[in-house]
Amino acid sequence: MNSTLLDVIVVGGGPAGATAATVLAREGKSVLVLEKEHFPRFHVGESLLPYNRGIFEEIGVWDEIQNEGFMVKKAAQFFMGDGEPHARLEFAKGAFTENPSAFQVERARFDEILLRNAERRGAKVKEGCRVMSHEISEERVTVRYQDDAGATHETQARFLLDATGMVSLTGAQEGIRHVREGHRKVAVFGHFKGVKMPEGEEAGDIHLVVRKDSWFWMIPLSAEKVSVGLVISREEFASLGKKPEGVFEALVQSTPELQRRMLLADLLGELHVITDYSFQLDRMVSPRLIRVGDAAGFMDPVFSSGVMLAMQTGLEGAQCAVAAINANKTLTDEMLAYQSRTREAMGRFWQFIENYYTLNFIDLFLQPNPMLKLTSAINAVLAGRPDLPWKVRWRLKVFFVLVWLQKWVPVVPRIRWTADSDAGGQKVSAT
Ligand SMILES: Cc1cc2nc3c(=O)[nH]c(=O)nc-3n(C[C@H](O)[C@H](O)[C@H](O)COP(=O)(O)OP(=O)(O)OC[C@H]3O[C@@H](n4cnc5c(N)ncnc54)[C@H](O)[C@@H]3O)c2cc1C
Repeated sequence: MNSTLLDVIVVGGGPAGATAATVLAREGKSVLVLEKEHFPRFHVGESLLPYNRGIFEEIGVWDEIQNEGFMVKKAAQFFMGDGEPHARLEFAKGAFTENPSAFQVERARFDEILLRNAERRGAKVKEGCRVMSHEISEERVTVRYQDDAGATHETQARFLLDATGMVSLTGAQEGIRHVREGHRKVAVFGHFKGVKMPEGEEAGDIHLVVRKDSWFWMIPLSAEKVSVGLVISREEFASLGKKPEGVFEALVQSTPELQRRMLLADLLGELHVITDYSFQLDRMVSPRLIRVGDAAGFMDPVFSSGVMLAMQTGLEGAQCAVAAINANKTLTDEMLAYQSRTREAMGRFWQFIENYYTLNFIDLFLQPNPMLKLTSAINAVLAGRPDLPWKVRWRLKVFFVLVWLQKWVPVVPRIRWTADSDAGGQKVSAT
């Protein structure tokens, strides 16, 4: 055996890579994380889900996360563009949701905590190292990377975990990464001070404001700082004929709820732009290779599922690698089961995401009815509960039947965009 052969190379030190590296090191595997940036670094994706807690505990970082002073998120609030109707999905009120709260995090700090935790537990981390290519043979994986000084290096391992986020390095190199048609979006976002947000019990809530074919998020990161982002279809973005800053400003001004909240807001730093981020892959695993986090596929961020799924897949992907290495195998049934489970978990969120862009869904979502505890079932999914018992699954089926029925018969009063604008204003009409 080659003495320099590592057990695992993890490419990418975000939440998925850091979680995976922690588990691998804990299990006694030699693991090298190659990360192209130097942490702390800015990253989008600041609103976490309650079920992240179990993973924090599993990788031994819960106390640090809890004591960091991140804003506590007890609920998600959804508004139409002019403020009404409005619904607050409070995690503690979900009959099938065990964890009552999550956190809103500045990713620079959060990701650094996770990566340093991996390092403390025995993973070797090299920052400023960009992986350029990989090669997989029957015996090993070879990875070539370039450091900050421009020098190239080569390193080898038994397994490769791709945790490169939305670029999905290996998926792109293999040509199996496909953008989700119908979900070509542009996101424009930044940090602001002076945004009007609630105080007291609701101070840490995420706020989502629904417009026709677009939406805003407002995520309180501290008492002073709020992350505000716009997600808009590529077509609408292009039709406005403006730069991202102009589009952001125009839509804030034409959305009464945003306009009211942002009256005294000042941008801190710059606005960021990301396009066409929803994609899927033909496969997540192949001999000696496991993709975790966004590198395994990414969905529209409306329900804040990204970090939760990244850490869950990081955890499970690492467990698969450990088992495969111990059994001296390159592709195992566990790896294929991991792929199926991950597809199922993503599918659960996709059902909500696809429907979110339809008015019949919004009608029911913004006017919840406590009947049959349907809202509790939705609460469990949107809190990130990974195992959905039958009592949740049948309720979800009933909910989506009602959403479908709403197209033809008004199960609840219909919400309509106002005739005079597409600015997210609307009225509720009991047709
Ligand atoms: C507009 C938008 C809003 C979002 N909002 C939320 C939200 O509110 N809540 C939520 O949970 N999620 C949100 N997400 C999703 C969230 O950002 C991701 O799901 C999450 O960051 C995935 O973690 P990851 O570790 O897989 O990837 P990342 O966090 O992207 O980490 C990947 C790492 O790999 C490194 N890397 C990439 N290429 C290479 C290379 N060649 N060599 C070495 N290193 C490399 C990168 O530098 C990076 O540090 C949002 C996403 C978008 C686009």
